[in-house]
Amino acid sequence: MTSEFELIQRYFKRRTLHTDLDGGDDAALISLWPGSQLVVSTDMLVEGTHFLPGTDARDLGWKTLAVNVSDLAAMAAEPRWALLAMALPEADEDWLEAFSEGVYECAAAFGVDLAGGDTTRGPRTLCVTILGEVPHGRAVTRAGARPGDEVWISGQPGRAALGLAHLRGTLRLPDTLRDACIAAQQRPQPRVALGLALRDVATAMLDVSDGLLGDLAHLLDQSGVGACIVENALPVQHLANGGVDPATLRQAVLAGGDDYELLFTAPREAREQIASLSDRLALPLHCIGHILPAGSGLQLQTTDGRPVPTACAGYDHFR
Ligand code: ADP
Ligand code: MG
Repeated sequence: MTSEFELIQRYFKRRTLHTDLDGGDDAALISLWPGSQLVVSTDMLVEGTHFLPGTDARDLGWKTLAVNVSDLAAMAAEPRWALLAMALPEADEDWLEAFSEGVYECAAAFGVDLAGGDTTRGPRTLCVTILGEVPHGRAVTRAGARPGDEVWISGQPGRAALGLAHLRGTLRLPDTLRDACIAAQQRPQPRVALGLALRDVATAMLDVSDGLLGDLAHLLDQSGVGACIVENALPVQHLANGGVDPATLRQAVLAGGDDYELLFTAPREAREQIASLSDRLALPLHCIGHILPAGSGLQLQTTDGRPVPTACAGYDHFR
């Protein structure tokens, strides 16, 4: 079966006329006035695909905007405006009141204006287009990683996938992990401050929406390089104390979606700067591997030090 990325490549990859950076990154870049670029992205949430029916409407409002803010964070841009297009099965005002509260809560947290949208009847579908700004030439794209750079991940990837498994009833999380994992799944925190702080530090960056390895593969594609991820360096320690079996944890960290952490590359010399940034933001930043020359593919160095090629793909809607 064709992947969503092959479909986009085949049908929606025609030449653009007024766009500095078009499809293939977390957002597009457009020059409108000297000195800065407009940064634009859109992301859709569909009931049954991206959220479970019955999801708390307020949480869903937050998440609908947050996943879009995250794409701008991944470009090192400042989010400014959002348009909200919705299809709703019925005019349920209790639902709408709670949903709108969640949207505005997220908008206030990140300084975003809700500037317009569209409302229609249909299967519950929520689509935000987000616009923001970056000083000209200072966006961090997926394309700048160089051999020798180190690969970093923010926060605690894997929590959202564990939270979802718990909500679905396929996994029973211990009390020590449950609330944080469910919050990670329902109220993702876009890493805007981190993205902005990495403007002059990161060589490439994206947000992890579909799983760490699968999204890293997109960054490697755009940069034309390979990478080695060191299993021992993955941040699993904080998750490991709750009695969840190691294989499930490993799968959640490497392939779990919906975390919206930032994955970025930076030269070795930036280590200290990144460590102090981590302190300043009170956000863990973990170095999990390094960039390899073109043609090396994506390798995983197992705990016994063996490099193995990984076919562990991210989430794909059609494959
Ligand atoms: P993200 O996970 O960062 O939101 P996606 O995986 O949704 O990004 O999309 C990958 C890239 O493909 C993005 O650059 C996006 O703009 C582009 N893209 C996705 N769908 C379409 C489409 N229907 N037409 C044009 N470009 C698209
Ligand atoms: Mg993204």
